[in-house]
Amino acid sequence: MDKKIKVKRFYAHCDLIEGTADVYYCSFCNELVKEKHFDAEHPNKNHNQKFKATLHEWKLKESRGTTKVRPDDAPSRLK
Ligand SMILES: [Zn+2]
Repeated sequence: MDKKIKVKRFYAHCDLIEGTADVYYCSFCNELVKEKHFDAEHPNKNHNQKFKATLHEWKLKESRGTTKVRPDDAPSRLK
């Protein structure tokens, strides 16, 4: 029996989508978007703050036992 555990990735705001080179998760829209989306649609938003907020939400879910994971070195457009 080949039992594979399917792990679902959690994407925080501005995280790069696995398997892509230029698609990111936008937490404001709950959509997968291209880089230009962030300046075009959210020019005055604090993306670092939003990133931290989504990460914090996920940490809470994790402590309650979510099956989604996010690697510590998950690629993100934020630096
Ligand atoms: Zn957006």
